[in-house]
Amino acid sequence: MTIRDDLIALMGIPGLSGHEERVARWLRDRLTTLNIPSRTDRLGNLIATLRGDPKAPSVMVFAHMDQLGFVVRKIEADGLIRVERLGGVSERAMAAQAVLLCPPGHADVPGVIMNKAHHATSPEEKYKVLTTPEISIDAGHGSKAAAEAAGIKIGTPVIYHPRVIPLAGNRLAGTAIDDRAGCAILLAMAAALKSRIKGPTVHLVWSPLEEFNLRGAVVAAQVLQPDIAIQIDLMLATDTPDMADRGDMALGGGPGMALYSFHGRGTLNGVIPHPALVRLMEDTAADLNLPLQRSAHIGALTDLSYVQTVGQGVAAIDMGFPMRHSHSALEVCDIADLEALTTLLLAALTRIDTTMTLERG
Ligand SMILES: [Zn+2]
Repeated sequence: MTIRDDLIALMGIPGLSGHEERVARWLRDRLTTLNIPSRTDRLGNLIATLRGDPKAPSVMVFAHMDQLGFVVRKIEADGLIRVERLGGVSERAMAAQAVLLCPPGHADVPGVIMNKAHHATSPEEKYKVLTTPEISIDAGHGSKAAAEAAGIKIGTPVIYHPRVIPLAGNRLAGTAIDDRAGCAILLAMAAALKSRIKGPTVHLVWSPLEEFNLRGAVVAAQVLQPDIAIQIDLMLATDTPDMADRGDMALGGGPGMALYSFHGRGTLNGVIPHPALVRLMEDTAADLNLPLQRSAHIGALTDLSYVQTVGQGVAAIDMGFPMRHSHSALEVCDIADLEALTTLLLAALTRIDTTMTLERG
């Protein structure tokens, strides 16, 4: 299996935050096929430990399994479904999208987010973005009873209808590239690490709840007590006119490294990476002749923000792949970036040994 095959498979599996079991099961089966033991915890982390030199700093490499979406809030008498949003749904890219309702114990139910008939839309309505409380989902049921018979009830998870659209070259558009791409990279790393001869202990963690509260991976870190944490997720591609002033992150331009992330609205958190890890990634990329793109921006953060404060502090860095249209139903990535990032991370891990010092000052 290639990263591309794994990513396509993973993009097709529903896994709203807090409902990651189907994704975890698929990953567990793949790990079993690779002969790699794995375990889960109560929050839903899936953990595979590949033992290495016990004297070298231990490393936790993680990516989140969950995706954003909606939760059923109410079923109206006419069968239309009201929802709350879960995670940072891009509301301006929401109306008229296909969705999938996933009632546990029942078949998945396709639906569409309603959008008022264009012919009847007034000039004032035409340029107004609908917010989540204003939308309804039509799953075809003519009544509340019919929707309930399909298993839909308050609390039912809803995601954008999973799909993959191959674009020219090696690019893919579709659902939940954030962060099933990271999940696929971790799988490729697991396969490679299994047959390595030297290197540190590496804990691969597929984490839950990132889009919800950013703290699923913290529970894994509390148990694993890693010295180093490397988080794998998207980096905002800025090589389109609408994003040009935000940075220098080109889709297809290679892996990325975040030098600064911060989010101030309520979360008040972010990551300034450990200098030894910045150097590690820079030196490794230079030796491999791989491009390494840099990112520094506010407005986004990852679960690494919370992982870094576990125990006596964890040396941390966000690594990633450029991605367009974040948090919409059609995110876009370039497979070459995912492959290059995997190569970089595997090579960087071999350089983590007993000579590495993480103390500051
Ligand atoms: Zn993400």
